[in-house]
Amino acid sequence: MRLVLLGAPGSGKGTQAARLKEHLQVPHISTGDLLRAEVAAGSPLGLQAREVMARGDLVSDEILLGMLEDRFSRADTKGGFILDGYPRNLAQADAMDALLTRIGQPMDYAVQLDVPVELLVERIAGRAKAEGRADDSPEAVRKRLQVYENQTAPVIEFYRAHGQLTVVDGVGSLDEVFTRIIEAIAPEKAVG
Ligand code: AMP
Repeated sequence: MRLVLLGAPGSGKGTQAARLKEHLQVPHISTGDLLRAEVAAGSPLGLQAREVMARGDLVSDEILLGMLEDRFSRADTKGGFILDGYPRNLAQADAMDALLTRIGQPMDYAVQLDVPVELLVERIAGRAKAEGRADDSPEAVRKRLQVYENQTAPVIEFYRAHGQLTVVDGVGSLDEVFTRIIEAIAPEKAVG
């Protein structure tokens, strides 16, 4: 199954993706994690991305597409994947659609985790305490939510227009939201 998780920063994409990976037995591809690994390794790409990420802006579409092409070319994605953090704008959505069509692996589902903005801010603040991410400072969080609203929210309409969108209520416990996602995409794999 090829699945993309959509939702604002703090909507729970990463947490649900980790759970879905176990359940569906497909790799979890997080572009944020891939970028953080490059930054940690101090690679040329990481050095380019570091400042942009720290202030909550988007890293260039070229870098992201290159990273994804690379990741999709690995054998473990042949049986599907869960993508989280990409696409972040319409250009990325178009580029990935073209890439997946070219390699004959079109997306099966786009799941949007719907969470009200007040709760997003609260969740990110909790994560800042727990993980101390460089882009969880109040200014960077404001910027990331603004970038989401302006650039990423239109991606939801892209998938709606392609008939691939499923909206899931992202408010509730990890288990509750997980069950809703499974019921929406793979009821035959639902437990209980
Ligand atoms: P995330 O972990 O998905 O919240 O991503 C953390 C940061 O990595 C974002 O705020 C961006 O700076 C960068 N990033 C992750 N995915 C993308 C993407 N698809 N396009 C551009 N920048 C990205």
